[in-house]
Amino acid sequence: MRFASRSSLYTPRTIFVGLAALALLGTACSDEPERCTASICEDGGSGGTGGDGGAGGMGGAGPTGDITANVLRYDYTFDLATAEATSKLALDVAAPGGDCYSVSCEASSLTDVTWNEGPAVSADFASNVLKTCGAGMPAGPTVSVGARTTVSNDTWWNLDVGFSRKKNLAGGEFSYLLSWVGGCDRFGPCDDDPSKMSDFHFEVTHPAGTTVLCPGTLAPGETKTTCDVTNAPTYSAFAIAADPLWERAPFGAYAGVDLVFYEVPLGTLASSLDKASVGAFMDWIVSLLGPFPYGKELRIAGGPTAWLGFEHPGNILLQEQLDKLQLDYADGTMHVLMHEIIHQWAGDHTTLASATDFVWKEATAEYLAYVFEDIARPEGEAAATRAYWDGISPQSKHWPRPTDEPAPEVQAFYGDVYGPGPMVLYLQLEPLIGRTAVLAGIADFLSKSGGRSVTELKDALEAASGQNLDAYFDAWVFGQGAPVWPTFDVSATQLDGEATITVTQQNPGGKLFPCVVEVEVKGATETARVALDYGLAPEAAAVTMTIPFAEPVSTVTLDPDHRLIGTKTGAQPILISRPVWIF
Ligand SMILES: [Zn+2]
Repeated sequence: MRFASRSSLYTPRTIFVGLAALALLGTACSDEPERCTASICEDGGSGGTGGDGGAGGMGGAGPTGDITANVLRYDYTFDLATAEATSKLALDVAAPGGDCYSVSCEASSLTDVTWNEGPAVSADFASNVLKTCGAGMPAGPTVSVGARTTVSNDTWWNLDVGFSRKKNLAGGEFSYLLSWVGGCDRFGPCDDDPSKMSDFHFEVTHPAGTTVLCPGTLAPGETKTTCDVTNAPTYSAFAIAADPLWERAPFGAYAGVDLVFYEVPLGTLASSLDKASVGAFMDWIVSLLGPFPYGKELRIAGGPTAWLGFEHPGNILLQEQLDKLQLDYADGTMHVLMHEIIHQWAGDHTTLASATDFVWKEATAEYLAYVFEDIARPEGEAAATRAYWDGISPQSKHWPRPTDEPAPEVQAFYGDVYGPGPMVLYLQLEPLIGRTAVLAGIADFLSKSGGRSVTELKDALEAASGQNLDAYFDAWVFGQGAPVWPTFDVSATQLDGEATITVTQQNPGGKLFPCVVEVEVKGATETARVALDYGLAPEAAAVTMTIPFAEPVSTVTLDPDHRLIGTKTGAQPILISRPVWIF
């Protein structure tokens, strides 16, 4: 099992840049990589016959200039055996229209570039951008752009991002095409802005007997499988998975959704789950966030994936050996399943305003899974989740919502959000504004589809609580460089039947973190808990409380339940990094 060690996150990026450059130089336009016409790009560069005919001709008097457009729909065909693909983007053109459209494209061997179904007049391909021109068209859903490519058998960052074929645990071959944040342009022209929502139609040609899964509504066939999904982001919707050994097994109908598992014969994911608890979770999450946003069927498939899971709309992938891995969660399979189901709302239906807003997506999936563990799962499950988050938080090399200029690449910081994210965005706010307000803020934030930012989440939590959270978010959430978490000096004295407990923040520059600090004091026979409240706008570094306590205090424990990021003054720094589970 792999996880996001520092080296795996950083090292391969250089390789990626190199590959992308090679891909561009290796296109059919290699004689003139900076510029080429559609006619030359066609048929592998073997020569053209002139490019100004057909439906893409420029004979009309339509608008000229660069088009700004939203992609309404992607029509993508993929041949599982050859990795040949065609891509068509239906554009909603902004006023005043125009005759050229530029879109991100990192695919190699791009051919047959079209404009409104005919050959494009020109197709310039430079710096990972495809600029296609044709007849000038007015505003509205007036233009489609298409191209043909062969998807390279490459993955990035030691992850499944890209296209890969791997052995499943039963010895068969699992295939996976996965775009992730900003990555849909590896498979053809695609607007890789993570905030954009589109409709998708996939048509996958495959050998007979192979089961193909893709997002949304699935129509399986003997050698052709199609999927349709509406209103989804490219990071998760642009995905195809296939396995000849998958067996379909209905799991149950919960909250109006049919859960169906796909596992190879040796798979034990479904059998390791408590159906009643999965059903209770579905009822709870639907009551909190509203109806399941992607139809009546939710497929859950096992595969030999690098991540523990991935949230394709209506089509979740889980690591096929999840139930056998030693995770830090008390019930890893249930936790990861809940996390991916929550992503159907938090990530898919509501998505990232920008890659740097990545934290809210993972924090929400983690926190809501945790809340269900706290209210409806066996004793100790929620506590294990908190301890894990708190344990990995000191390792983070970026603030939860990085404000560095330029912004770090998502693959450089996404592994840093899994511990601090749910703690700073939600768990640490519970004693300050109440869990009810936290949940109401999340539900309100997710009630709006499309790209949303961490600042908008703050606004929703403020509206739900009636509190100003500016100082809190400035202290805990936004920042540049590596985070510096708070340090607390803790002291306790006992006299005349009372213990006086004082906590003092000792942070560089006198920075004060809004928080509630729990402290446990123990005597020979007596134990007591105190919660020292700095409030949402602390003005003093020290907070003191006095409680009845009959004995001399022998031990003082800071944050015994792992509800707060921070260390006791003088504590030894943790030198051994723990695995960060990514999913
Ligand atoms: Zn996740």
